[in-house]
Amino acid sequence: MKSLQELVRPNIWNLKPYSSARDEYKGVDATVFLDANESPYNIPYNRYPDPLQAEVKRLLAPIKGVGEEQIFLGNGSDEAIDLIFRTFCEPGKDNVVSLAPTYGMYEVCADVNDVAYRSVLLDTDREGNFLFSADALLAATDERTKAIFLCSPNNPTGACLPREELLKVLRRFDGMVVIDEAYADFMEEPSFLTLLSEYPHLIVLQTFSKAWASAGIRLGMAFASTEIIGLFNKVKYPYNVNVLTQRAALSLLADYSRITAWVSETKAERARLIALLEAHPECMHIYPTDANFVLVRMTDAPAMYNRLLAKGIIVRNRHRVQLCQNCLRITVGTPEEDDALLAAMR
Ligand code: PMP
Repeated sequence: MKSLQELVRPNIWNLKPYSSARDEYKGVDATVFLDANESPYNIPYNRYPDPLQAEVKRLLAPIKGVGEEQIFLGNGSDEAIDLIFRTFCEPGKDNVVSLAPTYGMYEVCADVNDVAYRSVLLDTDREGNFLFSADALLAATDERTKAIFLCSPNNPTGACLPREELLKVLRRFDGMVVIDEAYADFMEEPSFLTLLSEYPHLIVLQTFSKAWASAGIRLGMAFASTEIIGLFNKVKYPYNVNVLTQRAALSLLADYSRITAWVSETKAERARLIALLEAHPECMHIYPTDANFVLVRMTDAPAMYNRLLAKGIIVRNRHRVQLCQNCLRITVGTPEEDDALLAAMR
């Protein structure tokens, strides 16, 4: 693979990062803080947050089986996606490669950063299920491809991309490989986190927004080599994760068994929801899912969407997305919410 220096934008490689007051202070016993022009009132919100979120990372690292210095935390994983563009991609020159259909923010961030976005359409089998081939994806790369974005389990299709094909991409592509595991907690397959030391150009994204039931606090995670995380820390805003979010994360981390219990409940409810949908006469196909949602091909998705809307039930209409004609993406809710959905569908 290319060296990190060959992949990183030269201005970022040479960047001298902003040094904040809280970066410079490393003492433990200080009681008087007159270094950051903060107000002395309204403790603790008068204080700037820890710029590198050390306490959150200390509790998170053993759960994820990585070192604290292999973790970047940001304002949702969307911040990490944007940082990847800003760190690696030269506007107007470089490109990235991804799949279609997939999560929409890769393309939006590419457009914002003036980076060409190349998307490779998934194949489909005779039942209409999605197929992913590393060869087709790699054929779209060239010497200016800085990163490949792969979402597994994929949004909106729901299933994991085949592990062998992902490994092929990791072995053959010489730029950054981003595997977005926003929905990893709901899959049975192992996470790619365990392969970080084997593939120095791998970046794994996860989030507090799904299994951790905390989309409102905006906390996303990127896991990568210490060198890559060091680059992200240089480029990010100094205080990118606020005090309230860090406190909420600490309280979630203090009782991780709650999260695993929510995930088990969601997986059981997913199976029940799928069985109910299968029995519905207007559901033509239910795509395999490893996530907390299910993609369903309906006889007439826009009509069903409007019927549900009129009853105050919102699902995601994916009818206009490539290869998703007549598809609705339905999030697994509580048993009561899913029963309400089914009742409204009838
Ligand atoms: N990646 C994928 C695949 C997603 O589906 C989403 C949210 N829908 C995100 C990332 C964004 O997550 P966050 O809330 O952490 O920004």
